[in-house]
Amino acid sequence: MPVDLHVHTTASDGALAPSEVVRLAREAGLSTIAITDHDSTDGLDEALRASAGSTTCVLAGVELSVDGGTGSDAHVLGLEIDHREPALVATLAGLRAGREERACTMVAALAAAGYPVDMASVREIAGPGSIGRVHIARALVAAGCVPTVQEAFRTLIGRDARFYARKQTLRAVDAVDAIHAAGGVAVLAHPGVSGESAFPALLAAGIDGIEAFHAEHTAADRERFAALAAANGLIVTGGSDFHAPDLRSAPIGGGGCPDEAVEAIRIRARRYRG
Ligand code: MN
Ligand code: MN
Repeated sequence: MPVDLHVHTTASDGALAPSEVVRLAREAGLSTIAITDHDSTDGLDEALRASAGSTTCVLAGVELSVDGGTGSDAHVLGLEIDHREPALVATLAGLRAGREERACTMVAALAAAGYPVDMASVREIAGPGSIGRVHIARALVAAGCVPTVQEAFRTLIGRDARFYARKQTLRAVDAVDAIHAAGGVAVLAHPGVSGESAFPALLAAGIDGIEAFHAEHTAADRERFAALAAANGLIVTGGSDFHAPDLRSAPIGGGGCPDEAVEAIRIRARRYRG
């Protein structure tokens, strides 16, 4: 049965609650999913509860942002982590504080330029999830400033737009260490989309795998990154990066992850367990 090792929920910028994601995965016939919210493990308890007695198994995960060195960020997945490990919990709390600060910076700049948005509405839209640009984008749509979230990114808060501010990131070695200390394996996410420049630093830091299969990767990307993984003795993983059940987002299970990745991750994680 297919697996999907990169899935978001309302604990970060996904549209569905963790239990709804697990239900959708079960309906899609997936045997295993990894919940990998940005800088947050808050969705995991609900997802793990929902998977109990279900045919879909949930791997505890997280997606961390690390400095890619060239002005861009790389994303690192932590898979099969102990999400209650105190050092990881503290690291994530620090990253979420940084997200809050960054959102305040962007919202203040937007407000100063005359856009009728404020942090109260952004926080309300984010709910319990870690705050991200998508929540600012939704506030801009709700205020009638732009017709769609995509338009908000394109014209106002995307990487090359006027109100973009960078997110606080971890050093590659700190992200990998935090994941290993929590007993999990560290995987470079979607290098064909972003983050390839961080690979040497991540390799030196002891990264365990590469997400060669990703919904936005081309066949050439998959081949190249699977070869890079093989050349370095790393696990190949894959995922959809599912965020919402709409046409712009890949469907859950849509990443083409090789089934054997799950067993490889479980075996590799034993290295980091006390
Ligand atoms: Mn990512
Ligand atoms: Mn993601």
